[in-house]
Amino acid sequence: MIKSATIITITVSLLLFTGCEISGNESGSDVLVFTGATIFDGNGNAFDNGVIIVKNGRISVVGSQETDIPANARIVDVTGKFMLPGLVDAHVHYFQTGFFDSRPDALDLRDTISYLKVQAFQRKYPERYHEAYLRSGVTAVYDVGGFLWSIGLQETAENDLNAPHVAASGPLITPAPRSMINIFNTPGEMVMIHLDSEQTARQVVEQNSSLGSTGIKLWALAPQDLEDMSNLLALSDEIQKRKNRLIVHATRLEAAKAAIELGAKLLVHSVTDKVIDDEFVSLMIDNKTIITPTLVVSGGYLKTRKAILGEEMKLADPNNVVDEASKSLIENATAFQKYTDMVALEKRIERMERFIAREDSVMMTNLRILYDAGALIAVGTDAGNPGTLPGISIYDELEKMQEAGIPAADLIVMATRNGAMAMERLNDFGTIENGKIADMIILQNDPSTDISNMRSVTHVVRGGLLRPVNQKFE
Ligand SMILES: [Zn+2]
Repeated sequence: MIKSATIITITVSLLLFTGCEISGNESGSDVLVFTGATIFDGNGNAFDNGVIIVKNGRISVVGSQETDIPANARIVDVTGKFMLPGLVDAHVHYFQTGFFDSRPDALDLRDTISYLKVQAFQRKYPERYHEAYLRSGVTAVYDVGGFLWSIGLQETAENDLNAPHVAASGPLITPAPRSMINIFNTPGEMVMIHLDSEQTARQVVEQNSSLGSTGIKLWALAPQDLEDMSNLLALSDEIQKRKNRLIVHATRLEAAKAAIELGAKLLVHSVTDKVIDDEFVSLMIDNKTIITPTLVVSGGYLKTRKAILGEEMKLADPNNVVDEASKSLIENATAFQKYTDMVALEKRIERMERFIAREDSVMMTNLRILYDAGALIAVGTDAGNPGTLPGISIYDELEKMQEAGIPAADLIVMATRNGAMAMERLNDFGTIENGKIADMIILQNDPSTDISNMRSVTHVVRGGLLRPVNQKFE
């Protein structure tokens, strides 16, 4: 044992002197020491020339150059680079493919691609997305709505160093009519459950909670749903009884306020119908509600529709992390022209462009108001929706948040610590602090000067395992 440790130390010394590229470690169990980076700890602090010691997959010391380094350590010289906690995407869906084949409500391609087969595939191969997330620097994700199997990902991903940590809410409950949601459900299983009674509310909470769901997702809450509150109050009551937490998709101000009053811990979309008021801001602050503004997802739908028309949809994917199935659908999107009413599609695109322009400006204004008020903001992409691809879409989302006026240094906190808070995992990850799981990323360029520099990620550390992001996992 001593001999092999010595050899490792010598190899590392050579790396240091020759300035070689950082190489990965084979397992997460070595004592790893990162020296020389500018560290952003995820709590809003930054310091130069730091030392991070990782033992048994956890951060054991965060210090300065004076820190004692264990004799058997493998030293990784990251001088001139930037280290921060792994990113958290607090709004994703593993049941969706990034194309319309998993969103027949938006564009029905079921005559040519079987929705049942798509769902069987999604269930069978989640590792495609696991890898896309990790190799984008995303070490934890929150699946806020999926089939029952998505809850199982929490356990299977937790100790799999090829996967990000996953929290999952399981099937969504919604007041939206059955005629709207049945298209998502398969004969064997439901992803969307119509909230038709107090009993249904309680059953869904019981079912998801007993499987260990992190949160219960209430989808598409609209102002008209507030006329009779009995089912919603039963939902909220049962969630409290089961010590679970409510997550809400509500894009209209009145519904978003009601969501917080019902106990929502997390709002997964911006308010889009109007500029938010003081009452909403106070509700957010007083209840410590977290929001993921989810700014880019509508644009993703638009881009994907345009791809069917024949406009090239450029994927900023230098490390080739997007899974082959999604990529092939997007690259061959024009093949779906023959199954699509093209006149209707063109009209829809025109309508969407106008809608998105308006929605964008309201969302950005609202985000800025919440930021100025000190509300809790996390980063979520809604990845899985058409054109919003797992992993790489987090950079687009961060850039859009920066465009809304949030300083890059604060975006780092939102993309790390606040995401872990949303997942209820802050004790385990989300910051670079002693005792936390060693989930970190290494960047070539400074993310605090421009959040686009998140794209310069070169390495990911998951549970102490260091790997370059430009190589496929074994
Ligand atoms: Zn979503």
